[in-house]
Amino acid sequence: MTGHESVNILTIMPLNRLRFCPLLHNRTHIHAQAKNIDAVIPHFQAAHRSARIRQALAVALAALLVHCGSAIAAPSPDVHYYTISIDYTLSRLWVEARFSPSVDSVTARSRDAGRLLIDARDCDSSEQIRMRNRRMLLPAKGIRCMNYTVDLERAARQERHNRSLLPGNVIVSPSLWLWRPELTANRELRVRFQLPENVRVSVPWELLNAERQEYRIARSPESADAPAVFGDFDYREVAVPGAVLRVGFLKTKGGMDTEAITNWLRATATDVSLAYGRFPNPSPQVVVIPVGGGRGRGESAVPYGRVIRDGGESIELLIDQRRPIDAFLEDWTATHEFSHLLLPYMRRKQKWVAEGFAQYYQNVLLARSGTYDDLKAWQKIYEGLERGRQSRPELSPNEAAAGRMRGGWMKVYWSGAAIALMADVSLREQSGGEETLDLVLDKLQACCLPSDRVWSGPELFAKLDSLTDYPVFMKLYRRYADTAGFPDVQPLFERLGLSVSNGKARLRRHAELANIRLSITETDTAAADWRHQLAATQ
Ligand SMILES: [Zn+2]
Repeated sequence: MTGHESVNILTIMPLNRLRFCPLLHNRTHIHAQAKNIDAVIPHFQAAHRSARIRQALAVALAALLVHCGSAIAAPSPDVHYYTISIDYTLSRLWVEARFSPSVDSVTARSRDAGRLLIDARDCDSSEQIRMRNRRMLLPAKGIRCMNYTVDLERAARQERHNRSLLPGNVIVSPSLWLWRPELTANRELRVRFQLPENVRVSVPWELLNAERQEYRIARSPESADAPAVFGDFDYREVAVPGAVLRVGFLKTKGGMDTEAITNWLRATATDVSLAYGRFPNPSPQVVVIPVGGGRGRGESAVPYGRVIRDGGESIELLIDQRRPIDAFLEDWTATHEFSHLLLPYMRRKQKWVAEGFAQYYQNVLLARSGTYDDLKAWQKIYEGLERGRQSRPELSPNEAAAGRMRGGWMKVYWSGAAIALMADVSLREQSGGEETLDLVLDKLQACCLPSDRVWSGPELFAKLDSLTDYPVFMKLYRRYADTAGFPDVQPLFERLGLSVSNGKARLRRHAELANIRLSITETDTAAADWRHQLAATQ
């Protein structure tokens, strides 16, 4: 086991320049399990997919240029400048905030933030700033500058994972220490960290300048409290097609094989790029927290994961660092979480869309990367859809997602997967194989992701329809979103050549849409070979 080495910067791809154009965002999400590995950035050249991917990339690039052009033409936003310092014992955090123009309202996200504030002053007058609840009481004319001190040590006690971390690295959400005006389409923050030697930081915000530790915080959904990590944790930049993951590995007693875990993350993120040739977010924050096993976590290598959209997109993965690398490669949690980034953050009532698309893609992508064979992928899709069908049949997907109803989770997780499958097959069938769900989501990413806001289901489905010559999405939404029961996938299975008896799936070679079924799960041989090599090198 290695585990305590310091910064190790891997390749940074030229594509990450693109991140200076797209707007920032976030959102969230939860789960449990994942898989994979790797070593060097692979080149995926699945013969017949590559032409389509090239075409898709060209469309994406064109859309991005249009997007960047419009961003340049937009009025420049108000920018407030924050300088944040931390002492080497991680006990205090100091902030100087300079506002331009002045602001009359500053709040923190967490209710606990006020208790953690040691002192706050107007830096022009040195007068103390008082507060009520989560709001600083500012003069009506506003202030141009404030400085404040936060009890970081106490704030760190709020995060339960810190109890099992080695001293010297902590997770403390900005919701506890970042006091700021509301961010709008025309108002953003620039944050610069001034840190002692050996103290580094991981935040989900857009990185503007790594050397100067400068970040941009723009408006974003707030699905949960994003993590900020401080201290001597391991940090790596992991290049995958179209993106660089900014990964922080928290340190616990016993350490972990950071190299192997990095390979697994690269493999898993690369699997997600098999949807349309690149990872959906060019620079997400990934936080890896080793928690060991036991305590109800079972044998999973990745007992829990979630996506958080709060100032950027973060993926938190709790791992059992003692498990062998092939257990990570077999696990689906990270694939599921990363797949959430293919869509914007959805409002609660339409969580079934977010979950369903992630469930569909998780299985499809694991087949494409060779982790599952066709039969296993379709068996899992069948089993999931069956669980969904049996789950609270009297509720519609919208009702199940809105109501947090007992026993309704499988409906939330799988009704959207049924719709993703139906949409994908329809697109492929109607277009003679020219259009796919992958390509529509590619265009969605190019126009709209990461997104700075929460989306509704109808809004998303209408947008997807607008991105294709084969509008299938709203039709499916209207038919199923508010309808009790579960989409009947049986006739579709029949046409795809998927038969089930006694719960066991069987694939028939001669079926009306067998070719579509094969193309959905077709293995990318380069990705599969690479994974095999990784599994063999442990
Ligand atoms: Zn999920």
